[in-house]
Amino acid sequence: MRPLFIAGNWKMNPNTEADAVALAEAVKAGVGQDHAVRVALCPPSVYLHRLDSALSNSPIGVGAQNMHPEPSGAYTGELSAAMLVDVGCTHVILGHSERRHGLGETDAFINRKLHAALKAGLIPILCIGETLEEREQGRTEAVVASQLDGSLDGLEAEPMAGVVLAYEPVWAIGTGRTATPEQAQEVHAFIRGRLAEKFSEAIAARVVIQYGGSVKADNAADLLARPDIDGALVGGASLKAPGFLGIIEAAR
Ligand code: 13P
Repeated sequence: MRPLFIAGNWKMNPNTEADAVALAEAVKAGVGQDHAVRVALCPPSVYLHRLDSALSNSPIGVGAQNMHPEPSGAYTGELSAAMLVDVGCTHVILGHSERRHGLGETDAFINRKLHAALKAGLIPILCIGETLEEREQGRTEAVVASQLDGSLDGLEAEPMAGVVLAYEPVWAIGTGRTATPEQAQEVHAFIRGRLAEKFSEAIAARVVIQYGGSVKADNAADLLARPDIDGALVGGASLKAPGFLGIIEAAR
């Protein structure tokens, strides 16, 4: 009932528009008109407009990696939700750990972005996940619950069903150390249970929860086979078309 959703988070790559377009076109060619798996590409924002044209006549969505919660104004270096919509974005990643930990983003700030994104018609991909230290202290569930409570504050049930969550354990990001399918499933089931308490069983059953952290073509099938893992948010392995297409293939 939940379609699998594979998104590529290109982070701060590649360094030229020509390379960005070539990568998008190769993914587009591989996906064709197949709608069985939802796919989105999240390039650096300077390439969003160009990728929207490159991906026309394709079911692939285009996502930004961040946005500002205010509608417009004196926010140097920032982008509004309306700007993202105007250049063709369908999705926006919010609360990535590289912004939470590297740039000090709080749940309260991420929550304001979430409301602004939904109001503008963007599909948020909300990232949550514990650090290695938090996991070793046995605090994974407490951390994830508190991130969910803070970043979903004030959200009504129906819009919640349209939010995509990405469970990304910080210790698995860019480290080659993937969570085992069992570890990931355990946290995904916990997240869905928390959504059922906060909203309802029916809403929780509709929310797509991606896993992120060193997902590759050769470990994707095992992760995606778990009942509460509904897709992947892919970093490094989304930067080469064959590897990313291999993950999409694993989702079919
Ligand atoms: P890697 O796939 O490179 O570990 O990155 C995961 C991630 O942070 C996706 O948002």
